[in-house]
This record gives sequence, C-alpha cells and structure tokens, in this order.
Amino acid sequence: MKFLKQVRDYTKEAVQAARYIGQGLSVTFDHMQRRPVTVQYPYEKLIPSERFRGRIHFEFDKCISCEVCVRVCPINLPVVDWEFNTEMKKKQLKHYSIDFGVCIFCGNCVEFCPTNCLSMTEEYELSVYDRHELNYDNVALGRLPYKVTNDPMVTPLRELAYLPKGVTDPHELPADARRAGLRPEEILEQMEK
Ligand code: SF4
Ligand code: SF4
Repeated sequence: MKFLKQVRDYTKEAVQAARYIGQGLSVTFDHMQRRPVTVQYPYEKLIPSERFRGRIHFEFDKCISCEVCVRVCPINLPVVDWEFNTEMKKKQLKHYSIDFGVCIFCGNCVEFCPTNCLSMTEEYELSVYDRHELNYDNVALGRLPYKVTNDPMVTPLRELAYLPKGVTDPHELPADARRAGLRPEEILEQMEK
C-alpha cells in the first residue's frame, strides 16, 4: 500500500510540474510570434510626446524681470539678476539661469510667465560628468532645442501610444500613418461643434 501511495504522489507531482512548464512555455511561444519593439538607441530615438516637459528654452529679449517664475517655482529655482535702469525707469535683465540638476521639470515657471519667454522643449539628453554643468545661463537656455526628427543621424520612432491602431512595432512605419485616437485640437473641434 505504501508503495502504491508513493507512485500516486509521484505521478501527481509530475503532472503538476508538466503543467507549470507548459504555462511558462506558452508565454515564451506567445512572445516568439510578436515583433520586436526594441529601440536601438542612440541610432534610433523615440519622438517625445506632444506635452513632454524637457529642457526649458528661454528668450532673453522677452523677459521683463518680473520674477513670477521664481515665485511659482516650488524651489525658487530660476535666478533673475536685474538692475533698475533709472533712465528708462524700468528693470533691466542682466543674467538669467536655471539649474537643471535641481529642477523637477514641473513646468510652473513656463505656465505662469506673463510674456511667454519660457517654454518646455523635447530635449531630454542632459547627462553630464559634473552636475554643476547643468546650471544653464541665459546663453545656454537660449540655445535652440534639439529635435529628434531633425537629426539626420537618427531614425525617429513613434512612442507606443502614438502608433496606429493595432500596430505594436514603430519600425518601417510610413510617416503619414495616422495614430490611434484623436489629437487634442481635434477633440476641441469636436467639443465646439
Ligand atoms: S516670469 Fe518670465 S518674464 Fe518674469 S522674470 Fe521669469 S522669465 Fe522673465
Ligand atoms: S520647471 Fe518647475 S522646478 Fe523647474 S524651474 Fe520651472 S518651476 Fe522651477
């Protein structure tokens, strides 16, 4: 009787193990049928989404040194260095800087700037060897933003959320292929009707 019980337990365990192996392999075989979505960075780069909050761009000539950006910043980060011009009777901006080593890219300064001299770009490659290099002055902030789609050395790929319906692979996709869902301006248009 003891021998029979041992055989029964062994068979039960063997069947259970085979079932688990089958479950594991079913996931593997399922993935073998899917196309790869790997991005071969830095030769391929994903196009950031429309509302991506990247490196801030600053237009020196538009700034009126009001310091609203400093007041709305959660860490009072932008440094607005100005002096009062007695002849013109108004503030004159001397230097402006933002330290991206500290900035949390919340976008408050961009949102509240009364003259729209700040804007968020799609630039995200900010790695440096010394974090103090991330303290951008008005010249560095005024540099035109880098765009993935303008770089001839890079193949731009769309993010998963911006692919046409049912497509999971951003490679070899025609540029005019329409993404799934509506764009924000199309939703607004629909709401106005
Ligand atoms: S809020 Fe805009 S205009 Fe005012 S100091 Fe900041 S960047 Fe300049
Ligand atoms: S993005 Fe946010 S944290 Fe960065 S400077 Fe502007 S307000 Fe401050």
